[in-house]
Amino acid sequence: MGGRQVTWADKNVTVAGLGVSGVPAARVLRGLGARVTVVNDGDDERARGQAAELEQLGVTVRLGDGDTLPEGTELIVTTPGWRPDKPLFTAAAAAGVPVWGDVELAWRLRRPGAAPWLAVTGTNGKTTTVQMLASILEAAGLRTAAVGNIGVSLLDVVLAEDEGGERAYDVLAVELSSYQLHWAPSLRAHSAAVLNLAPDHLDWHGSMQAYAADKGRIYEGNQVACVYNAADPATEELVRAADVEEGCRAIGFTLGTPGPSQLGVVEGILVDRAFVENRHSHAQELAEVTDVHPPAPHNIANALAAAALARAFGVEATAVRDGLRSFRPDAHRIQHVADVGGVAYVDDSKATNTHATEASLAAYEHIVWIAGGLAKGATFDDLVSNAAGRLRGAVLIGTDRALIREALARHAPDVPVVDLDRTDTGAMAAAVREAAGLARPGDTVLLAPACASMDMFVNYGKRGEAFAAAVRELEAPPGAQQR
Ligand code: ADP
Repeated sequence: MGGRQVTWADKNVTVAGLGVSGVPAARVLRGLGARVTVVNDGDDERARGQAAELEQLGVTVRLGDGDTLPEGTELIVTTPGWRPDKPLFTAAAAAGVPVWGDVELAWRLRRPGAAPWLAVTGTNGKTTTVQMLASILEAAGLRTAAVGNIGVSLLDVVLAEDEGGERAYDVLAVELSSYQLHWAPSLRAHSAAVLNLAPDHLDWHGSMQAYAADKGRIYEGNQVACVYNAADPATEELVRAADVEEGCRAIGFTLGTPGPSQLGVVEGILVDRAFVENRHSHAQELAEVTDVHPPAPHNIANALAAAALARAFGVEATAVRDGLRSFRPDAHRIQHVADVGGVAYVDDSKATNTHATEASLAAYEHIVWIAGGLAKGATFDDLVSNAAGRLRGAVLIGTDRALIREALARHAPDVPVVDLDRTDTGAMAAAVREAAGLARPGDTVLLAPACASMDMFVNYGKRGEAFAAAVRELEAPPGAQQR
């Protein structure tokens, strides 16, 4: 099976899973002339609606059975989230049928000479880094878009590139999840970065090794640079294991002084010692730490990774500075909500795992920490023992709060802890009030739950909004005017 050069007409393609990636994939493949069957586990109203639409296009849809391989299947295009140990894939392997994810399909459908990809993966910071990168590329006057796992379908972008017969983009900033990488065997980026590696989604991948190996695929066939995190040796290890194009370089980023072939920080300045002439004696100033918003250490690391990819693509230093200056992260990522009574209230609801929370706790000196929710199998000992010295207090909510409470008792026994013993949505307002009571002027009340939100909220966004609303109530309690 190839890409654009292949005749799709009458190829038997099975699309695994309806939904965000499955429906567009089925539509596109049908448009290319393939015989398309969609298989889907669920058989609910939404699935039936989607099925009816696809059937009008001549797609066959089987609802309620995502595990049986349709006879004659020559290729499976899967929703990236489907687990590799699903019986459908076991059957495909036995029958010698290749399996592609949505990213692989998009990659194969690129026309020759299409915009190259600068790709980013990692356990945390992907979205922020990809957006920073797009901002830098735009500042350099390049036509670009932040796409992929970020919520913009690569398939749409790749096909849109065809319209009018002209290239619509000069370069793409692509966020890739470990699932997408697992199913994208032939992807070859111009340059790529792995930001960090911490245990996550291990139930899906089977082991930390398998997770790392899937992330490492992003480096395969890189042309210009493999960007790694000098503080995370596992990322450098993945560069070493990758088979890259002749002349492709390993480029590190560090929060310290950079060595040759690295980007780093010297006296508050982001500097490049990789993409400069004579890197053994010279460094190029890129931007100031204060050009990065917010200037928390992990976010500086993201900025350095984005800068490294942009520089690998030949972007000028001034564009790195301008792109970083104009960038603001999405909501709920260490977002400053308000100062009330000299206390800063910060919403990092997106910190849904311990690795992200560790970064966020490291960014403030005195913290009243609001945490808890669904732990997804995580343990909290390292997180709490590293942050213990900075904790003014902790307020716990959500289903798995006892795990955090126990870790606090073990590693920070002197820190006052309020266990709210609540999992209702209204608990956030109470948590913020309790936190306000523990905080002193100059402190930060930080919502960085280290847990998923779904026990109490629809998603992390709603959790963050509940936090912000509660902070506004502190500023102006309801009925304050009447009193
Ligand atoms: P992703 O797309 O990988 O989920 P986001 O940029 O959306 O990453 O950030 C997710 C969470 O991780 C946020 O809570 C953010 O504060 C935290 N975070 C961002 N960058 C890093 C990093 N480099 N290391 C650790 N945590 C980070």
